[in-house]
Amino acid sequence: MTYRPPIDDMLLALRHGAGLDAAVAAGHYGDFDTEMAAPVLEEAGRFAADVLAPLNRVGDKNGVRLAADQVLTAPGWPEAYQRWAGAGWNAVSGPEAFSGQGLPLAINAACSEMWSASNLAFGLCPLLTSSAIEALTEHGSEALKKIYLAKLISGEWTGTMLLTEPQAGSDVGGLRSRAERSSDGTYRLFGTKIFITYGDHDMTDNIVHFVLARLPDAPPGTKGISLFLVPKVLVKADGSLGERNDIYPSGIEHKLGIHASPTCTMTLGDKGGAIGYLIGEENRGMQCMFTMMNQARLAVGLQGVGIADRAYQQALGYAQDRRQGRAAGSSGGGMDPIIVHPDIKRMLMQMRALTAAARTICYATAVAIDVAARTTDTKTKSEATARAALLTPIAKAFSTDIGNEVASLGVQIHGGMGFIEETGAAQHYRDARITPIYEGTNGIQSIDLVTRKLGAQGGASVWALIEELAAIVKDVEASNDPAFGLTGLRLREGLGALERTSRWLLERLNATPNDALAGATPYLRLFGSTLGGCVLAREALAVQKTGAGGGDPARYVAVARFFAENITVQAASLERAVIDGAEAVNAADTVLFA
Ligand SMILES: Cc1cc2nc3c(=O)[nH]c(=O)nc-3n(C[C@H](O)[C@H](O)[C@H](O)COP(=O)(O)OP(=O)(O)OC[C@H]3O[C@@H](n4cnc5c(N)ncnc54)[C@H](O)[C@@H]3O)c2cc1C
Repeated sequence: MTYRPPIDDMLLALRHGAGLDAAVAAGHYGDFDTEMAAPVLEEAGRFAADVLAPLNRVGDKNGVRLAADQVLTAPGWPEAYQRWAGAGWNAVSGPEAFSGQGLPLAINAACSEMWSASNLAFGLCPLLTSSAIEALTEHGSEALKKIYLAKLISGEWTGTMLLTEPQAGSDVGGLRSRAERSSDGTYRLFGTKIFITYGDHDMTDNIVHFVLARLPDAPPGTKGISLFLVPKVLVKADGSLGERNDIYPSGIEHKLGIHASPTCTMTLGDKGGAIGYLIGEENRGMQCMFTMMNQARLAVGLQGVGIADRAYQQALGYAQDRRQGRAAGSSGGGMDPIIVHPDIKRMLMQMRALTAAARTICYATAVAIDVAARTTDTKTKSEATARAALLTPIAKAFSTDIGNEVASLGVQIHGGMGFIEETGAAQHYRDARITPIYEGTNGIQSIDLVTRKLGAQGGASVWALIEELAAIVKDVEASNDPAFGLTGLRLREGLGALERTSRWLLERLNATPNDALAGATPYLRLFGSTLGGCVLAREALAVQKTGAGGGDPARYVAVARFFAENITVQAASLERAVIDGAEAVNAADTVLFA
């Protein structure tokens, strides 16, 4: 179960498909040089393949244990984490003022894909630390930053997010954890949080928890939530570690997948109250959460890409080795490798094409977030902010949905051996399953896309993106290259379906919102299928023009063509599902579920 980082594909997606080179050329990245991307990715790829990938199975088999007040991770986990953080991988895109390397988020996105591809359960820990870093950087006081930020950025300490409670999942506004003001300006927190990723572990000597809780006089719902920093071990004025804080893991979940990632029930305040420090202002915790959501959701999207790529690599290897049946028309003796069968080839192409499209969508989201943060031009900043906001739910939901589909195809290609644990195909399938659920379920992402992103300014950001994608279609058509087959036509049809469906949804958003909500999930799929086809075509054209991607245009044209002819082509039926399907969905209340 080796992992081979697809560096050529990643660089092509990053530099050409996602537009990093164009953004750098336009001056939005300061003095960052795109040539730096390759050596960083290659080094990260080596670490992922050599250190993290071999631990993937170990973590799955051993899982984690709760011993007294401490979660113990799988054998090799603490050492691997120390090596990973020691090599600087946690600090790739952290601010230089706090000892980060200041590289673009887009570079870190590519690295994150490799952490997830090699070992999803391991990569989940830094994902949460990144969210904590963002919350602290954006909203923390200078005093808190001074104590915690550099240690979180270096990875010496890890971070967590404590939102979920039994009665408050998708609807965080229902949370009941309490925070009481203390006379010394700190707070005392009480309550129980569930499903907390890496809520406790033995990889670092401190964990910095970010906890949502409610003050006694807070208004109800999301307007009454505040965000607090609650360290596992209290930090003294000189920066050394003091006493253990009153926050403990009181249980760990037994799960379908990501066995090596501890999912903890966390109890706060059983011994008098966990000491917490306010982040931002009282009752404005949700605003703090919103600023971090883009990056956290993108990071989960990248998990989808990573697991899909790993499943693809494994299935390809198996299909080249496993011999069953004969190629149609073959007259030779013996059995052929199953990769000769068109049905297997189709599945592999589907896996490859979906993974490549999701990768570029995620990287494009990272580039938009980077540009929004780095550019000095106000108009560019506002356009990039809108683009990042639009792409984020697609990056999260499309990529994690396809992560599951691709992992399932991976099992299928292995036949019965796919269902048997020893090949590893089953682990990818199990591990992938959580990704459409956490960090806002994919249903919630679709609703966000339709109501907040399409719904903003009469769909302005959607129309701007469609215009940009239409230019790619023109370039494909102008190339007159027969190798593209029906790519241009299918992409044009896809964009037409996307535009009509967007208009239909916009009209209904206020008038008959249940119609719009009923079509949210197929709409997001339609969006991803069209956007994905266009960005893959852009990459294929770039390889033809510049020799990027290892200088092998036929390979990338084939992937783009397959995607357009087999996946974007479904835009037409997804359009019908959104527009014609709403009535049946909304009638189900009385017809089926009464
Ligand atoms: C392994 C794991 C790790 C996790 N890590 C963390 C963590 O570190 N920190 C943390 O705080 N939480 C964490 N979570 C919690 C996770 O974010 C929630 O499980 C998730 O947000 C969904 O909430 P829920 O489970 O309560 O489902 P529910 O909210 O009950 O949703 C059930 C179903 O209803 C749908 N639904 C809900 N509301 C709506 C609506 N308004 N419109 C349409 N559909 C709706 C959902 O899409 C879903 O399909 C983790 C969960 C797991 C399993």
